[in-house]
Amino acid sequence: MRQRVRKGILVFSALMFPMTFFLLSPFVIVLSATQGVLNGSAMIFGFLLIFSVIGSRLFCGWLCPGGAVQDYISGANNRHWNSRWKNLTKYMVWLVWFSFIVFLWIHNRPLKADFLYFIDINTLYLIIYVIVMSIIYLFTLMTGKRGMCHSLCWMAPFMVIGETIADALHIPRFRLKAKPDHCVSCGKCSKICPMGLDIAEMVKSGRVDSKECINCLECVDGCPKKAIKFGIYKR
Ligand code: SF4
Ligand code: SF4
Repeated sequence: MRQRVRKGILVFSALMFPMTFFLLSPFVIVLSATQGVLNGSAMIFGFLLIFSVIGSRLFCGWLCPGGAVQDYISGANNRHWNSRWKNLTKYMVWLVWFSFIVFLWIHNRPLKADFLYFIDINTLYLIIYVIVMSIIYLFTLMTGKRGMCHSLCWMAPFMVIGETIADALHIPRFRLKAKPDHCVSCGKCSKICPMGLDIAEMVKSGRVDSKECINCLECVDGCPKKAIKFGIYKR
């Protein structure tokens, strides 16, 4: 039931994406910064960072429209796309992109807040939408399960920063916990993980903490032995 609700929310979010697109945009945030404007994307990314201190990456697993689209594409390519280097790429891209935004904010201060900046559904808007959707489709088709989330997502680093702050300050946050003695190594959890994490191996080692985990709870709900639980725990 829980996974039905989650998937329903993701479908709704994907359907709304043509409207919410510029509120999650790496491009519009740059455009607005060139004009000294703090736009909706900047505010939402800031909110996600703060939310993730307790909520971890629940947004990615339960609400992200880009994630929803990738979950559908994984029907065509469900290869696991998860390694240290593949995951590192997004931080390198993010660092360059976000440093440039901070530079523009400092250069164009004082900033003016405008949540709905650039939201006007016209031809340019639709062209940019189609280009971004094509990138998401093609990249995920070429890579595999949530390839964009692993290697290119511009929002994930904000949430990983929030999680890292929580862990450093010993703030309890949403996370998985393993019960290794319950596990029978059936491998079902690893198979259904939309991020392609080897959660079965993690359960065996007793360490199910991964910054790549999107807290979708597929593994919790799919484990026949209830060997994975979730809650708000300290590290
Ligand atoms: S689904 Fe459960 S029992 Fe099977 S490998 Fe994963 S944690 Fe172990
Ligand atoms: S480890 Fe579990 S909760 Fe995390 S992404 Fe994979 S299936 Fe979802």
